[in-house]
Amino acid sequence: MTRIRLEGVTKTYGNVIAVNNITLDIEKGELFTFLGPSGCGKTTTLRIIAGFEIPDSGKLYFDDEDVTFLKPYKRNTAMVFQNYALWPHMTVYENVAYGLKIRKKQLGLTDEDIKKKVLEALELVKLSGLEDRYPLQLSGGQQQRVALARALVVKPRVLLLDEPLSNLDAKLRVEMREEIKKIQKKLGITTIYVTHDQLEALSISDRIGIMNKGSLVQVGTPQELYFKPRNIFVADFLGRSSIYYGELVSKTNGIVTVRLEGTEMLLEGTTPFDSLPGKVAVVIRPEVVKPVSTMIPSKNAVKGVVDFAMFIGDKIESRIKIGGLSLLAYFPNTMPVRVGEEILLHIPPEHTIVIPPVQE
Ligand code: ATP
Repeated sequence: MTRIRLEGVTKTYGNVIAVNNITLDIEKGELFTFLGPSGCGKTTTLRIIAGFEIPDSGKLYFDDEDVTFLKPYKRNTAMVFQNYALWPHMTVYENVAYGLKIRKKQLGLTDEDIKKKVLEALELVKLSGLEDRYPLQLSGGQQQRVALARALVVKPRVLLLDEPLSNLDAKLRVEMREEIKKIQKKLGITTIYVTHDQLEALSISDRIGIMNKGSLVQVGTPQELYFKPRNIFVADFLGRSSIYYGELVSKTNGIVTVRLEGTEMLLEGTTPFDSLPGKVAVVIRPEVVKPVSTMIPSKNAVKGVVDFAMFIGDKIESRIKIGGLSLLAYFPNTMPVRVGEEILLHIPPEHTIVIPPVQE
């Protein structure tokens, strides 16, 4: 198991800052995900860790070893790519065995050892019996498993996964992310995962680093990032939310009161910050909004009109107009929610998140 440390890592291409001064520790055995929109620098960061790119400045450590300038093949990392990058003229067996065969002498392996390791890797990814097929004779999901087996068979110090599921259909993606997580925990291998899919990141990761425009914006467990976003970019990118701006009225006993911009409306909330500026942002997740039958005595009890309601199976997704504000809310899927009708709601202060109004 290997600990990874990035220290002030920066990489530019011409005048594009692809990775901007990232400092980060990834723990032994951790599944760490870089999540962010297209072009935010996720892949470049992964390629720096693999050794395919050298940073312009900063250092990279595997445990206490400075590997910033170490050749990729000396780092003992293995990468799974979005397009699998299997060799079409080789069978499944040959694809998986390749990495061991080229290191046969160095590792002191016999053909029998190689066979044993390849069959074990194929069993791990549930592909036993398909050794003699060629990649083109496999489904996308099976090809992805071959790519995973090929990466794992060399027992890398670090496993790198670059959008490994994005070519699969939605159902298979969910199945595979469960399996990758299980295999990763079973082997305990330090793993770095890159995706722009927030659900994938939330479900698979021990911790997530959210990136925007080359910078690491916030690092935390999926729960920390979801419940305690420290800026608007994270609140907006991870999960869904209504975001309002306003002025801080008071902060007592952990309860923050905010007057929403352009209204007389006061909302109470909580904050992950020790101190807040005068102007703040308020983040409300749609699932915390509760329909109530009578107006309860709370600042956060509001009356609105249903602007839009959509049955989407497990819930009703709705937008409620409250004066000039629009609030996204999820309601139980059996609740009658009719457009144009009045609705009483409570927004629990403990789930009303108040943060500084910064974007990045
Ligand atoms: P995606 O999800 O679309 O793959 P990403 O978050 O992985 O995006 P990167 O591929 O790391 O982003 O790219 C970060 C920025 O650096 C982008 O603006 C990209 O255009 C630029 N970039 C990446 N590689 C190169 C390169 N070899 N030459 C020039 N610019 C590059």
